[in-house]
Amino acid sequence: MLGYRTVMDALYFSGAYRALAPLSRGCGMIYMLHRVLPARENAFQPNALLEVTPEFLEQVIIDNKAAGIEFISLGEAYRRLREGDFARRFAVVTLDDGYRDNLQNAYPIFARHNVPFTVFASSGIASGTCELWWLALERIIDENREVRLSFGDIKETLATDTVADKYAAFARLSKWIACELDEHAQRRAIRDMADGAGLDLEGMCRSLAMDWDELRLLKSKPLATIGGHTLGHHAIARMSEEDARDQIWQDMERHQHELGDIPEYFAFPYGGRTAAGVRDFELVHNLGYKLAVTTRPGQLFPGHRSYLTALPRVSLNGLFQKRRYAELLREGTPLAIYNGFRKINAV
Ligand SMILES: [Zn+2]
Repeated sequence: MLGYRTVMDALYFSGAYRALAPLSRGCGMIYMLHRVLPARENAFQPNALLEVTPEFLEQVIIDNKAAGIEFISLGEAYRRLREGDFARRFAVVTLDDGYRDNLQNAYPIFARHNVPFTVFASSGIASGTCELWWLALERIIDENREVRLSFGDIKETLATDTVADKYAAFARLSKWIACELDEHAQRRAIRDMADGAGLDLEGMCRSLAMDWDELRLLKSKPLATIGGHTLGHHAIARMSEEDARDQIWQDMERHQHELGDIPEYFAFPYGGRTAAGVRDFELVHNLGYKLAVTTRPGQLFPGHRSYLTALPRVSLNGLFQKRRYAELLREGTPLAIYNGFRKINAV
């Protein structure tokens, strides 16, 4: 099977993406980022897809503007989708989770280029109580030559000596945590592993994420919008409806208490098909959110007006930090191919 990178390069260098543009281009797009920080040297970076450099982010903004794309706030995108105002193609920038590097490294770029942005902050992350299991797992594996697993009936030792061992262990353990354990058991498992490895989960969370004071500072900037992202960053489609509602509602209340307003916009944690489904799209609507974004890949089309709590996004993936890949995403080609040229993917 051809690799994704090979397909992207073939689309680009053949010029096929230009021919496909009338089919693949939407009226706008919502970019998704997580962390913005300088490139790291480590050989083991299993979460590298969630990080882009400040230089790449700035280049993408410059190239989008040169292509005639207007950067607007999420609130303005909501208005345009509702009113069918598509005179000019637009882009919205969103960043998930609430990492401190958003304030330190991304904000100065947004300010320099007058780009509105939305940070979807999980209140558990801002309070330092969320496990951030994917980053904890990276750190535990990175800092140890073996990882001992003792959880229920599972007693196992995984080698994490070489870089290849580390990647294999990360793949195995992240699948176990995200797919095999339920959402509550996964947190007990990562706490057990962190205890065994001497990793302070709360300290890690506090060192990486903005606290409420920093979120208040960010919210005071005219370009910023702060959205909700659940209390504990769970894949809510894997929870009971009661638990899912609780996760969303408690997060909204906490935002109101700390930041003064109930958030109007929401991002589903993880946000793929198994993390957010039709029940959840309705749930966030019924709880009062105006608009919600997933991580399903896609540009925006006028028909999304009927699916405002199930919007797709365009991921700026740290493994694809080249201008040509960003151009393909801007033209929508890989996203349209992924969706079989269906414009709406919300069921
Ligand atoms: Zn998230």
